[in-house]
Amino acid sequence: MIKVAINGYGTIGKRVADAVAAQYDMKIIGVSKTRPNAEAFIAKQRGYPLYIADISKKPAFEKVGLTVAGSVEDMCNAADIIVDATPGDVGATNKPLYEKLGKKALWQGGEEHEIAGFSFNSSCNYNGAIGRQFVRVVSCNTTGLCRIIHEIDKEYGVAHVLAIMVRRGSDPGEIKKGPIDAVVLDPVTVPSHHGPDLQTVLPHISITTMAMIVPTTMMHMHAIRITTKKDVNRDRVSELIRQHPRMGLVKKSAGIKSTAELKEFAMDLGRQRADLYENCIFEDSIYANKNELCFFQAIHQEADVVVENVDAIRAMTGLCKDAATSIKMTNDALGFVPIQNNH
Ligand code: NAD
Repeated sequence: MIKVAINGYGTIGKRVADAVAAQYDMKIIGVSKTRPNAEAFIAKQRGYPLYIADISKKPAFEKVGLTVAGSVEDMCNAADIIVDATPGDVGATNKPLYEKLGKKALWQGGEEHEIAGFSFNSSCNYNGAIGRQFVRVVSCNTTGLCRIIHEIDKEYGVAHVLAIMVRRGSDPGEIKKGPIDAVVLDPVTVPSHHGPDLQTVLPHISITTMAMIVPTTMMHMHAIRITTKKDVNRDRVSELIRQHPRMGLVKKSAGIKSTAELKEFAMDLGRQRADLYENCIFEDSIYANKNELCFFQAIHQEADVVVENVDAIRAMTGLCKDAATSIKMTNDALGFVPIQNNH
């Protein structure tokens, strides 16, 4: 049993904790919080030992009935590997601690590639993470791009990708973020950081990305155009998506045309937290003509990286040396059934 600590029990951290706890080859030995909020009570309810970043705040936790197991350093000492899910740029400040303790650690997409020197996606470069001390799991958007672009590249060869990302303004619980009534170009300049970020995993892919933020909390929506080296076939693309363990097809039969209906579907299916771990590609949007392929895909920002974290743990600790086996183990333990199997 690999002992996993979650440093930063927020949107991503709490999901990774539950996904790790569901696996039979790893367990949660602690999670960390900075302040006693609702998520701290969820950690207690789940039975995860609670550690705190600033030990002088221990009385504030204990006053509201939350037992503190120790400091973040105590937690890291007790772990084989640390999943750092603290906010972007905070994770980098924790690296000296992991180095001092000689522990393995993985960060999220809010950190720079250089923090770990290796950016990870299970379907693309699992083997490169085997045995590594440090790994960065790329962001939600980059994860979604990596999965589909890599698959199309293997089948047809990718000449160029243009990806336009319509991004959610905030996660549902973030009451202080916006916009409330605007489409914000983020950034105004082209390309956005997503293209270069994808190249940290797939360096040979030529890609241009543009991004904007809109007032929604549900999911991101990508409009993607891929120019291929060989002529592309629509049915074969659908088949590739259907066969991929982390991609799903939203079929015409469901009548779903929006992220809102997709999230409603996930809720009705009884997915934990209505999480969609897979790229949700709208089958009807798939357009193939000679060497041009276009489609829409929805990406659940809070969920797609969660399963990638679990696979990264297996690769880094040497628990499993094969990507397909790890991906299957992770999916099966979560009882994950791709979206097209439900309609
Ligand atoms: P979040 O703010 O929801 O959670 C971060 C947690 O870390 C909070 O509970 C906070 O209290 C805690 N924290 C803050 N400073 C800490 C410290 N010094 N030590 C320990 N804990 C600390 O953030 P998030 O959305 O979960 O993002 C975490 C990382 O995941 C970021 O790198 C982000 O870019 C990345 N990411 C986020 C999303 C998303 O949509 N939310 C998607 C993919 C990747």
